[in-house]
Amino acid sequence: MALRGGAELDELDARPPGKLPGGATPLMRQYRRIKDEHRDKILLFHLGDFYEMFDEDARTASRVLGIALTSRSKGDGSVPLAGFPCAAAREYIEKLLAAGLRVAICDQVEDPALAKGLVRREVTRVITPGTLLDEGLLRPDTNNYLAALAPGREKSGLAFADLSTGEFAVAELTRAEIETELARIRPAEILLPESVRDEEEPYYGRADDTDRARPTYYPDWAFDTETARRKLLEHLRAATLEAFGCESMPLAQAAAGALLRYLEETHRAGMEHMSALQVIEPGEYLAFDGEALRNLEVLETIRERRKEGSLLGVLDRTRTAPGGRRLRQWLARPLAAVEPIRARHEAVGELVREQSLRARLRTALARVQDLERLASRLAAGRVNARDLLGLAESIEAASALAQEAAGASAPLLRATLEALGRASGLAHLPGKIRSTLRPDAPSGVREGGLIADGVSEELDRLRKVRAGGRSWIAEFQAREAERTGISSLKVGYNKVFGYYIEVTRSNLHLVPPEYERKQTLVGAERFVTPELRAREAEVLGAEEKIVALEYRIFCELRDEVAKELHAIRDLGAAVGDLDALASLAEVAADRGYVRPEVDESLVCEIQEGRHPVLDSLMEPGRLVPNDLSLDAEKRQILVVTGPNMAGKSTYIRMCALVAVMAQAGSFVPAARARVGLVDRLFARVGASDDIARGRSTFMVEMVETARVLRAATKRSLVVLDEVGRGTSTYDGVSIAWAVTEHLHEVVGCRTLFATHYHELCAIADELPRVANVNVAVREWGDEITFLYRIVPGGADRSYGIHVARLAGVPREVIGRAREVLALLESRGERASRRSARPRRAKGAEQMPLLAPDEPPASAARPRAPSRLEEALRALKVEEMTPVQALVELERLKRLLEEEPKAE
Ligand code: ADP
Ligand code: MG
Repeated sequence: MALRGGAELDELDARPPGKLPGGATPLMRQYRRIKDEHRDKILLFHLGDFYEMFDEDARTASRVLGIALTSRSKGDGSVPLAGFPCAAAREYIEKLLAAGLRVAICDQVEDPALAKGLVRREVTRVITPGTLLDEGLLRPDTNNYLAALAPGREKSGLAFADLSTGEFAVAELTRAEIETELARIRPAEILLPESVRDEEEPYYGRADDTDRARPTYYPDWAFDTETARRKLLEHLRAATLEAFGCESMPLAQAAAGALLRYLEETHRAGMEHMSALQVIEPGEYLAFDGEALRNLEVLETIRERRKEGSLLGVLDRTRTAPGGRRLRQWLARPLAAVEPIRARHEAVGELVREQSLRARLRTALARVQDLERLASRLAAGRVNARDLLGLAESIEAASALAQEAAGASAPLLRATLEALGRASGLAHLPGKIRSTLRPDAPSGVREGGLIADGVSEELDRLRKVRAGGRSWIAEFQAREAERTGISSLKVGYNKVFGYYIEVTRSNLHLVPPEYERKQTLVGAERFVTPELRAREAEVLGAEEKIVALEYRIFCELRDEVAKELHAIRDLGAAVGDLDALASLAEVAADRGYVRPEVDESLVCEIQEGRHPVLDSLMEPGRLVPNDLSLDAEKRQILVVTGPNMAGKSTYIRMCALVAVMAQAGSFVPAARARVGLVDRLFARVGASDDIARGRSTFMVEMVETARVLRAATKRSLVVLDEVGRGTSTYDGVSIAWAVTEHLHEVVGCRTLFATHYHELCAIADELPRVANVNVAVREWGDEITFLYRIVPGGADRSYGIHVARLAGVPREVIGRAREVLALLESRGERASRRSARPRRAKGAEQMPLLAPDEPPASAARPRAPSRLEEALRALKVEEMTPVQALVELERLKRLLEEEPKAE
């Protein structure tokens, strides 16, 4: 049974009578002193076998954890109290973190049995969502990042680190780039300078964004460039940052320094494993603009936020945790240069062809443990014997993998296998570990049973003494039973009383006089003899020495292994790379993917392409493959029309996903594919999805569309799915029209536009690089059958009513809908001549940019004109095209955000 609080807690009740307020016993004084330094956290106070919380913490925890709130004292000094057993701590801590709380663990730092007076206690660890290290709280296949942001004018400094794997990176980026970066890494927590706390629209993610990282505000001085730089140099043990490539990046240094300081404060253990600082250059990776990563369901599904059903879910056949993390990183960070992409393709290709090599590698991989996380625990001194045994097994498996290097020809595959070969520097460890540790070592390191026989003469001797004592005791039991004639006489042991002789009540008359009574039970009495006591001292003395000695030997081994922690971490990273490559090859072979051609062109050509997720979910033969051809020079914009549910979204997403896969290094689900390098990917999906976020859907669309128009380059790929849906048909068509025009005339990037506004097809007549395709349906009387085949030309109507009928809408309603449609179409003919085909010069007045119920962006204030007001005055609305107006509106909005707030 767990001892709750024990004697120490009773002290609360036994307060000295009189003045001391609020249960101010020595224990509570100790508590309050420690709590004072950790006001912003829940303080878990180790007491007996429990973690206890007091006062406000107790109330909060009782609510969050659903545990009882009690009070330890009567009268005016009563202290609210809540607690849970230490043994169940992990589960409770997880809940506290999930509720957005931070946790400080205050442990007993001396043995309560030896303590004179109050047990000494210290905060040994602070756990926050971004600083997890313990296995049980982490997802094996996902990084857990802490980010720090040092805001600047043009650019800001970003640093991020995964304490559990040692990854550590910095960058200096614009606001938009930072958003992209944060969407990729999805930090669990983000550090910001205290001074930005009151910013209305935090620029590291929209305030209403549920994906947004949890902010932790940290003193501004920690972000001070000089202070931070010193911290960073000290951590990296370097005199300059030249070698790391961020010597002239003051904001990146500021963010990194603050991040390190915060980690030091919370982690309170070694961080040597975080020694490889990486600098991320903007443009190095394909940029997912805004919501693209989310909308395309690259890492998880939008609705359920699960990996199953996402692109990652299809591609992840990794065998190791580092492999799972690496593949996720590759998909979140597709490359943006031809050479490294081809290198991955070549490696994957070899593993696709060399089936038996792949099988051998994957078998060996399954034996390798998560060495990246092991290295971080080594640095923190938190490994046990089982971890080390696992390490031995992993090193052996890795050197078996490295043997394959000679047979590999793709340079990247070879390099990865050779990196595994560097494990040979660790070759001395497995033997050492296995000869030192018992194969059945327990998970605890302070209870003995860890160290093999033959490791230490002293240990062997002590074990003999202990064994001798034990066998003497066994003989003693037999001898005494014989001598006294008590056949049921037993010698037992417990922690409180040590060794004892137990005699049942019915035999008490046979007990010899030299037996000393020690304890009375219901049906028996327990005794000792001087002889037994002497042996007890010998056994227990040996036991105590054994445990201490075993721990010492274990620590020596651990420290010796820890000397190699960089090599171990690098080995873990190489395992991750190899596993990710092998996983891509496995899927490619299994699902019949092909190697895409990636080059510097501006084309995107796919033959018989399949949407990767649909492809993996549908029965063989059901999915209809489709061709796609885009080319910024000639066939730049594809307008995809067709009825609802025909397959438009699937088609355009297929293209985007093929580009992502290709640039991430994967093969693609097609018969042939050629992808000209994409620098930014935009994926704007119909506004209906945003209703959950409670924003005006129309406004969301406009803001995001404006941003596409502003940020896209000729090399970008833009996927627009039903843009303009958030408003009335004619507004919608007009906006879609204007956007298309702008992409055609100004940006020139490859664009896929799916719309059920068949009116949009007409734009192809006016703009040379716009082509129409539609999804074929077969009509048979009133029936339509979806063929899911893309054919040239535009759809001539919307078929929405057909779909309603298919969906089971009652006959009368369908009938009435037909009448209304006929009516609308006759009116619409007239209207569309004016509105759906705006002439550029007259466009502006016809294109309402705000829905009627939107409030104006700002109200005039009686004061000196601001930059915003000046900008507004300078506008020549009559000279603008609708799209320029849209872009301008977005710029004005940013100006507004930059304005000092007026009261
Ligand atoms: P739309 O965007 O035109 O409304 P979707 O792209 O959402 O249509 O597709 C609707 C459904 O049609 C999908 O969920 C899928 O089940 C099916 N579908 C789409 N494309 C194909 C295809 N190429 N082959 C087979 N079924 C498809
Ligand atoms: Mg759709």
